[in-house]
Amino acid sequence: MKKHNFYAGPSILSQYTIKNTADAIINFADTGLSILEVSHRGKEFVAVMDEAQQLVKELLNVPDGYHVLFLGGGASMQFCMVPYNLLRTRAAYLETGTWAVNAIKEARLFGDVVVPASSKDTNFSYYPKGYTVPDDVDYFHITTNNTIYGTELREDPDVNVPLVADMSSDIFSRPVDVSKYDIIYAGAQKNLAPAGVTLVIVKEDALGKVDRAIPTMLDYRTHIKKGSMFNTPPVLPIYSALMTLRYYKEQGGVAELEKHDIAKAAVLYKAIDESKMFEGTVTDPASRSIMNVCFVMTPEFKELEKEFVDFCGTRGIVGIKGHRSVGGFRASLYNALPMESVEALVQAMNDFEKAH
Ligand SMILES: *Cc1c(COP(=O)(O)O)cnc(C)c1O
Repeated sequence: MKKHNFYAGPSILSQYTIKNTADAIINFADTGLSILEVSHRGKEFVAVMDEAQQLVKELLNVPDGYHVLFLGGGASMQFCMVPYNLLRTRAAYLETGTWAVNAIKEARLFGDVVVPASSKDTNFSYYPKGYTVPDDVDYFHITTNNTIYGTELREDPDVNVPLVADMSSDIFSRPVDVSKYDIIYAGAQKNLAPAGVTLVIVKEDALGKVDRAIPTMLDYRTHIKKGSMFNTPPVLPIYSALMTLRYYKEQGGVAELEKHDIAKAAVLYKAIDESKMFEGTVTDPASRSIMNVCFVMTPEFKELEKEFVDFCGTRGIVGIKGHRSVGGFRASLYNALPMESVEALVQAMNDFEKAH
């Protein structure tokens, strides 16, 4: 049976990515060897790294003065690397979900953190607007898509201080004005590659302004100097990332991907809004994520939630159980998910509602 993969992360990758990664595990770039058993300093892998960096620059229109890095440690490592490298006295963080909370916790190890706005009061059910960021902070950190709660900011905010963004779960789902940011980072396992690599786009001018000593591996300048090859990089996830990037380019780039993503989300939100059995957890339509759609059953049907997950399973629909901090369901509609899978989910919702 065909599977419809709605997992939140690690999550669906294009068949192009999966097949080519599998091929490279057997025979990498016609070397007669697996990509798993050759030097990352050989010309074949250096070409992979170069093309992957180049394609990120091309797809996101990265201006001069920025570097593209592929680092280990996950997005969670960036929660400490960002303040280590940028925080002198004070930083501002938007508190929009669990990942933002985790980022704030790390930043507090390095200085003061101010929180200009938080949606914690309603279990992060909306994306705050209309806040003021103090002028005296070293940077302002946002989480553009709150993977667990299904809220998203689909624009690049205008602020008077350097901007830093965790784009782990919505990178490559829209054109981004990179020039507005000092650092953008994204764990790969949501919209790019298998777990194990984190994409970082960093502005060179933003670095070198803190007085503290930075451990070599946590200093962005180390990785910039060595072209993201200071130590052995996560070779296989980077290869997969390259395949996804080629696939994205072939699809027409991020503006085309965005159209497709918006269309998918619209179909699912419409079904939720028209249903008497399901309701969305993000009430403000402007805050709704097009990557992670969170919904629950209305109080009247609440006890059927588990049964619906099982019902979906019989139709090959997997990964829709909501995060434990929200409950209900979460359907992740990352770039590689086809419209056909959204339609299968909507069909299942309609059929289940009719049957009860
Ligand atoms: C998944 C996720 C993370 C954590 O990523 P790791 O690579 O597991 O550290 C951080 N931020 C956001 C927005 C995420 O979705």
